[in-house]
Amino acid sequence: MADFDTDLFVVGAGSGGVRAARIASSHGARVMVAEEYRVGGTCVIRGCVPKKILVYASRYGHDFEDAAGYGWSGVEPTFDWPTLIANKDREIDRLEAAYTATLERFKVQIVKSRAVLEDANTLRLATGERVRTKTILISTGGTPHMGAKIAGLEHVISSNEAFHLKELPQRILIQGGGYIAVEFACIFSGLGSEVTLVYRGDNILRGFDDDIREHLRGEMTKRGIRIITKKTVASVEKVDRGYCVELPDHDAVVVDKVMFATGRHPNVNGLGLETVGVKLGETGGIAVDEFSKTSVANIYAVGDVTNRINLTPVAIREGHAFADTVYGGKPTKVDHANVPTAVFSEPELGVIGLTEAQAVKQLPVVDIYKTSFRSMKMAMAGRDTRTFMKLIVDGSNDRVVGCHIAGHDAGEMIQLVGIAVKMRATKADFDATMAVHPTAAEELVTMREKAMSYGRAAK
Ligand SMILES: Cc1cc2nc3c(=O)[nH]c(=O)nc-3n(C[C@H](O)[C@H](O)[C@H](O)COP(=O)(O)OP(=O)(O)OC[C@H]3O[C@@H](n4cnc5c(N)ncnc54)[C@H](O)[C@@H]3O)c2cc1C
Repeated sequence: MADFDTDLFVVGAGSGGVRAARIASSHGARVMVAEEYRVGGTCVIRGCVPKKILVYASRYGHDFEDAAGYGWSGVEPTFDWPTLIANKDREIDRLEAAYTATLERFKVQIVKSRAVLEDANTLRLATGERVRTKTILISTGGTPHMGAKIAGLEHVISSNEAFHLKELPQRILIQGGGYIAVEFACIFSGLGSEVTLVYRGDNILRGFDDDIREHLRGEMTKRGIRIITKKTVASVEKVDRGYCVELPDHDAVVVDKVMFATGRHPNVNGLGLETVGVKLGETGGIAVDEFSKTSVANIYAVGDVTNRINLTPVAIREGHAFADTVYGGKPTKVDHANVPTAVFSEPELGVIGLTEAQAVKQLPVVDIYKTSFRSMKMAMAGRDTRTFMKLIVDGSNDRVVGCHIAGHDAGEMIQLVGIAVKMRATKADFDATMAVHPTAAEELVTMREKAMSYGRAAK
């Protein structure tokens, strides 16, 4: 042991790395963690947290309007982007300090530097200094991927820069159809920007349930977001007042900002992985076994760099499981099935489990329950927006294998539905649960009519 400067060297202090470092240390390991940017990683610094702050901000506009239906008048709000960004930055600084303090409290040594692997036990820091370690955990996360090198790509921002714009763009074009593109489209639209969303596929949110995709697209369109599908930005040119975006077989669009949210790549480049023999998987992330061990026995990887399910709670769970496995004497696998997740669009989405298409492919008998309604809150506000809910049931055993919600607080709802689905609740269990009235969520336990059945013999 004397050969090593530390027991565990963690590369990257994001969601996965911070949790792993803290838990490994609590199990008695000597731990160092290197961070080349800011402690907290993507989620805290330029992901979930700042995004949710912008989401909250973006929803007030409609809330002020809706208040009129409830008798409020004289509300004439103005919005100031610099105030929002300054307050957001202050909150992120506070969180970074809290994460740093936690690591220090757990006696984890923080090295503010990029670290790369020289061999299976040696890390090189930016200063050239070397650190010898018994075990390495790679938790370097991912980076925005800007797609093909088109003319004018240098004018295009990613989500990283969107958090630091000097002013709110009056007109913005966002390319991408994933959750980050959709969320930013709703944020900017809610704050008053004119938003165009361009996506190369048939419909936004590939991989989500088709009904939910259609529902959200309709609602976003109603709110004034222009959605152009089956198109890809061909070029971006700086013009007098903004940027001219060329789309093939389409009129050019002139905007103040162009943002691409066209996916993220695992941070594997330049880490020295090839030299050390750490193999990559088919999706470009570091290949790992069910204990997050790489192809090299003393090197592990967790979080987005493994490109399994790229969400903060998953990275945290993987980091924790790694530390329990290697230092806590408790080998722990992470169950990647039935991960509930939210899209903080407007309306919000909450989903878990199989989509209708997946269920029909995988199961012999499938029953579908769905409902679409205008909530009491929206009816009073006079706003034409609908809530949508759908349950996917395995017809052979009555288990609820999928739930898809679009509506106010869908993210909060799906966290709780997630427990039921994880516990293998049946549709009969849902039905036996007393409704909470009056809520929107009560529809989840009151859907009785099948909207569709697959695989049942016709009676
Ligand atoms: C705009 C946006 C919104 C998101 N919203 C959500 C959401 O609502 N919910 C959700 O669950 N997830 C969300 N995510 C995803 C979430 O942020 C990630 O899944 C999560 O942060 C992954 O954690 P991680 O530990 O794998 O990596 P990260 O948090 O990315 O941390 C990796 C860290 O490693 C550092 N690093 C990289 N290379 C090196 C090196 N060689 N040396 C030293 N340091 C290095 C990086 O600077 C970074 O700090 C969002 C992501 C984005 C971009």
